Amino acid sequence: MKITKIIRVVDTREYTEEGDRWVPVPGSGIENECARCGRLHEVHATVELADGAKAVVGTGCMRGESLDLQSGIKRLTSASKRQARLMSQMKRVSVLVDEKRRIEHEVTALRLPASREERTHCTEKSGYEYEKFEIVFSDGVRFCSLRELTKASYEEAARFWYQQKERELGMTYAHDFAPYELKTLDEKLCALEEKFPELKGEPR
Ligand SMILES: [Zn+2]
Repeated sequence: MKITKIIRVVDTREYTEEGDRWVPVPGSGIENECARCGRLHEVHATVELADGAKAVVGTGCMRGESLDLQSGIKRLTSASKRQARLMSQMKRVSVLVDEKRRIEHEVTALRLPASREERTHCTEKSGYEYEKFEIVFSDGVRFCSLRELTKASYEEAARFWYQQKERELGMTYAHDFAPYELKTLDEKLCALEEKFPELKGEPR
């Protein structure tokens, strides 16, 4: 069985965050019987043989092949691990993006409650005096300003109120950044797959 070409390399495992590292979850991938050693491998390559047939082999089972193929499989194996890790990361971030959309949707449906203005004369310990202007919503949310309230203050107060409701429904900073993070991960994945077409199974 002589291998002539690497068609596709895939790490089928899920990755999970452990501390500040992402590590593969053993047993989470699809096992394929190796044409070389007969064992089951989660990281494997589809290869073309000298007679044109295709076979699946573990990426660690190509010793004895030409140096070209060996260095190729080495680079592709580490690239496939990076690809699998990125895909697991994207899955995690996608959950946050979906949650963010759901919360935003829920909050948009809420009607802004009635509000009243409150003006307080404050004196600090140092003797410094100032006026505090507040828009107090009937549900207790307070928007504070150090300037006379204007139409713009009311718009700002409304945004603040909706933001408070989002936080109450579980919106976190991780959610805020999730869409940006997802885009970044997707760009990394695309760049990786463009550099190594074998990760998608397209022969060069
Ligand atoms: Zn094997």
